[in-house]
Amino acid sequence: MLKILAVSDSESPGLETMVSRFPEKLRDIDLIISCGDLEREYLEFLVDGINRDLFFVSGNHQQECDDDVAGDNPVERLLQSLRAFPEKLARCIAGQSDLHGRVVTYKNYIIAGFGGSMWYSGRGNEYSEREMAKTVRQVERKIQLFRLRQKILNRPPYDLIIISHAPLFRVHDEPDQCHKGFKCFRDFVEHMSPLLWLHGHIHLGDVKKHQITVVGKTTVVNAFGHKFVAIDKDKIEVSFMHAQANVS
Ligand SMILES: [Zn+2]
Repeated sequence: MLKILAVSDSESPGLETMVSRFPEKLRDIDLIISCGDLEREYLEFLVDGINRDLFFVSGNHQQECDDDVAGDNPVERLLQSLRAFPEKLARCIAGQSDLHGRVVTYKNYIIAGFGGSMWYSGRGNEYSEREMAKTVRQVERKIQLFRLRQKILNRPPYDLIIISHAPLFRVHDEPDQCHKGFKCFRDFVEHMSPLLWLHGHIHLGDVKKHQITVVGKTTVVNAFGHKFVAIDKDKIEVSFMHAQANVS
């Protein structure tokens, strides 16, 4: 059994109350996953309160600020890079690095991440379909190698969990360029059959709302606000309230 606290895009007052008043009721949470666009301070508050590891990707609003508004003015350029500095630091939160394009293991799971959104303004943490597809292929190769090694060593296969900010094409996405999902994510699901795909970026209006879709063997969950996700072998349960913490 693996219990995940997944968060994304919007701070959740209900969760803050739980963490600050009843942290002991969240003791059975194994790890915290952020799908992006949350302040570093909020994530560190969760990590400190629950005392668990954080795995995260950055959203499109956690940008590198490299856009060229300063032109050739050296003073403006210097000021711009200084303003961008805290954003660059945000790529490492609570001692963990952004998981974009990276593959790690946790217990019997492989966890990989894809940050940012579809390219729409050129000013944020945005990727064209082609750019993201390149990262997706690199991650696929890393996972294939890991799976091959497990097989050669006669070890049981690990289940795969993917964290992204943007959604998958035609799964929870929206027609506008900013909220359009990536087609290469659909290809990845077809090739690699992750058990769970957590994403953000699509705001649901109400943090209590759920958005869950099964694609092939993969359960896709929008982590908007906060969601408790419990994995028990192949069974995945998603809830807004934590079973151990009925604090309303
Ligand atoms: Zn976003």
